Amino acid sequence: MEGRHPARFINCYVDTQSCNLRCGYCYIGQRKAFDGTLFRCRYPLETMREATLAERLGGVCIFNLCAGGETLLSPDILPVIRMLLENGHNVSVVTNGTATAAFERLLELPEELLSFLYIKFSFHFLEFEKRGLTGCFFANVHRMQERGISFSIDITPCDELIPFIPKIKEMFWREMDGALPHISVARDTSSRELRLLSRLSKEEYREVWSVFDSAKFDYKIQEFLHPHREYCRAGNLSFSLDLAGGNCRICDGAPEPSKMDFYNLYERPQEAVPFVEIGHGCPTAHCYNCHALLTLGTIPELETPSYTQMLDRVERSGRHWLSERVREFYSHRLMPAKGA
Ligand code: SF4
Ligand code: SF4
Repeated sequence: MEGRHPARFINCYVDTQSCNLRCGYCYIGQRKAFDGTLFRCRYPLETMREATLAERLGGVCIFNLCAGGETLLSPDILPVIRMLLENGHNVSVVTNGTATAAFERLLELPEELLSFLYIKFSFHFLEFEKRGLTGCFFANVHRMQERGISFSIDITPCDELIPFIPKIKEMFWREMDGALPHISVARDTSSRELRLLSRLSKEEYREVWSVFDSAKFDYKIQEFLHPHREYCRAGNLSFSLDLAGGNCRICDGAPEPSKMDFYNLYERPQEAVPFVEIGHGCPTAHCYNCHALLTLGTIPELETPSYTQMLDRVERSGRHWLSERVREFYSHRLMPAKGA
């Protein structure tokens, strides 16, 4: 039942607080909360399958899987990725690209399922160089790319990385046939008002990191500390899901996120989901995930670039990082089926 439009964006928290790296800008690391937890499903896979049927969720959704640590470290995550793809959804997996055994298991999936998978590789240069993992990272990227799996590569900026920008650009010229990584914006999660995680001013930060010519960076920095009071459909077009336990939250941006809980997706999987809408009540200093939530249309009246533009790159040979199918799907705004 794949339509032109993704129905909903479901931001899944994968409860893994364990990682093989220790990046200085890590949100979990900032709170010193790596406790070795690995993601374990708390409901049978068949209950999760029934609860996430496309018919129940208003069509084919984007399930974005991101952990507190490294998403692919937990063996339990792989059957869930497969189940969501079998339910017809698009699955995106955020990873540091070093869990080689997990990539090998993913590559065993049928072609049809792989064609709707998207991998967001985070390039943690300083940690890779320190631990001798740069070669492993690019080998895994190329392994997925050769199978035609959609992907993008992203850098979280930090001040310590600035002297290495020319080296990183040269590395991508060689390894990725001239396509540069996308750039994110790092926030200081210990500050309530979400400051930039940098000693630079916003203008200096923009100047330094814009050399990567990343549409994602341009949009994120433009939106940084830009509050939105327009009508937002978060809680309906998008919501956050605790993947293990089924708890649904309107939006993760709130300073006190538990006040945003509205439903458990797995408890009564035959029931219609009582979606809500946050409306004019966005509680944050800026849209915390604007490159996905706003570009996919959670605030319908905003004019934005497309989600495809936030992720895709074209190599010198003309090869895109996103497949044609995923490019097309991500270029439309969220639109659930009527009545769902
Ligand atoms: S790879 Fe990701 S989870 Fe691991 S330390 Fe770095 S930022 Fe944190
Ligand atoms: S504007 Fe962004 S952060 Fe605010 S409620 Fe909507 S989706 Fe959430």
